[in-house]
Order: sequence, then C-alpha cells, then structure tokens
Amino acid sequence: MKCAWCEKLLDDPERSDNGEILCDDCYREEYSGDCDRCMNIVDKTELESRPGEMIAVLREAPGLSGDMRPGYYRVKDWPFFADGIIEGYFHDSNLERVADLDQPALGAARDSICAAIPLCSECRQALAGAAQAS
Ligand SMILES: [Zn+2]
Ligand SMILES: [Zn+2]
Repeated sequence: MKCAWCEKLLDDPERSDNGEILCDDCYREEYSGDCDRCMNIVDKTELESRPGEMIAVLREAPGLSGDMRPGYYRVKDWPFFADGIIEGYFHDSNLERVADLDQPALGAARDSICAAIPLCSECRQALAGAAQAS
C-alpha cells in the first residue's frame, strides 16, 4: 500500500478520504493547519475567517484607507484581504478593530512572517470576552 500523493510505502492504509489512501504527513498537509497564536494543529476549515470571526493583525499592514495597527479585528465582510502585485493589502472597511494584541499574539508576531493570522476556535473563544468588553 502506498500513499496516493508521495508514494511512501505504508504498513497500514492510514487514512482515506475520497477513496485516497494518504500517509499522515500528506493528510496533515491537506486537511490541517496551524493556529499561530496557540500553536495547535487544527482542521483547516476551523481556520477559515468567515464574517463574524476574528483575525489577529500582527504588525502594521497596509489598508485601503491607511495603515492598519496591530490588534484583533472582526471580519465584517469578505473580501478583507487582497493580494496586490507587490504586496497584499487589507480592505480595512471590512474589518473592525476589537482589541489590542495579548501576550500569545505578541509571541506569534515575533515568530510569524505573516502580517495577519487566522485563529482556531479555542482562541476565538478565549478572545470573545475581551472583544465584547471593548
Ligand atoms: Zn504521503
Ligand atoms: Zn489557537
């Protein structure tokens, strides 16, 4: 039995989806992602930033109407980010600033090369209180 993608030999057929047999590595690559705030590995679908969800902007980033300050932002509508030719920029009218970055996010800001990161459901829950208070 081989992994359908990387052709690594598998002792046991490990996981299958759509009839494909994948090794753990390829499965992880396809279906999971990292939450940079808490370092948890979660389902990719959990990291989708739908309207109503929060994202963390880790550093000053270009927005359509000016630079965005670091902080937690609630997504009001899509699209909230566009890839420009030279660099991406935020549709800041579709984002609402809700809170300052806390310690875990400041840690992520040190380690991440991204201007903004999605959050897993655990982090969103942890932040819900802070967001309501402001
Ligand atoms: Zn594989
Ligand atoms: Zn998280």
